[in-house]
Amino acid sequence: MGSRIGIIGGSGLYSLLEKDEKVDVKSDYGKPSGVALGTMAGRNVAFIPRHGPRHTMPPHLVPYRANIDAMGKVDVKRIIATNAVGSLKESYKPGDFVLFDQFFNATSGRQDTFFEGSPVTHVGMAEPYCPEMRRVAAGAAKKLGLRHHEYGTVVVINGPRYSTRAESRFFGAMGFETINMTQYPEVALARERAMCYLGIGFVTDYDVGLAGNPKVKPVSTDEVQRTFGRSIEKVKSLITMIIESLPETRSCGCSHALDGAAISP
Ligand SMILES: [Zn+2]
Repeated sequence: MGSRIGIIGGSGLYSLLEKDEKVDVKSDYGKPSGVALGTMAGRNVAFIPRHGPRHTMPPHLVPYRANIDAMGKVDVKRIIATNAVGSLKESYKPGDFVLFDQFFNATSGRQDTFFEGSPVTHVGMAEPYCPEMRRVAAGAAKKLGLRHHEYGTVVVINGPRYSTRAESRFFGAMGFETINMTQYPEVALARERAMCYLGIGFVTDYDVGLAGNPKVKPVSTDEVQRTFGRSIEKVKSLITMIIESLPETRSCGCSHALDGAAISP
């Protein structure tokens, strides 16, 4: 069945596998948010609810390093991650899916690397998201008739508070499409482990509202939960079809992420 496929469920997605086995995976970076092993579409998968099974971990305190480390320990080479996102662009509408192709880190103070000593290692981050998985995901979204965007930058803020109007205006003016609190450092850590990473955003709101349209209110947690809750079946069917459609072996460059990255003494 090849290596295991990892799924990291964001807000609103706390379980996915019908029959799973919770396992206690030891990580060198603390306790992961919770790991369950099972199968989906005939493939071995591992599921981690990013904020914990009862959503008790705020975005800035998610054990990102433990989660990615734990994925590696159960033989995961490819990760599918879901994220609720706010939209910074009118054409990215609530209910749309976004396949991130870039992130912009606006967080601070997070433990965001596995490389803290020797050898000093600088991992390339020009293409943080796996192109092969993005292609497969776009095909699956099309087949399922889901409104989706094949490209989109996600700016990651520290949270847990939402943005001010000024901050949101700034990020929108930079040309970023979506905003979120958890894509970083998760995606970067996966790359440091030469894993493939697919980030699926699900637009729940228009962040602080839409300029010139006072009817569109700023984001509230209630709204995020309602929008996500209505669409949870779509999210699940998209993940299932992606898993069905992923080739058995990787033909992207992600496994070479560490080639030439370390400084030789
Ligand atoms: Zn890849």
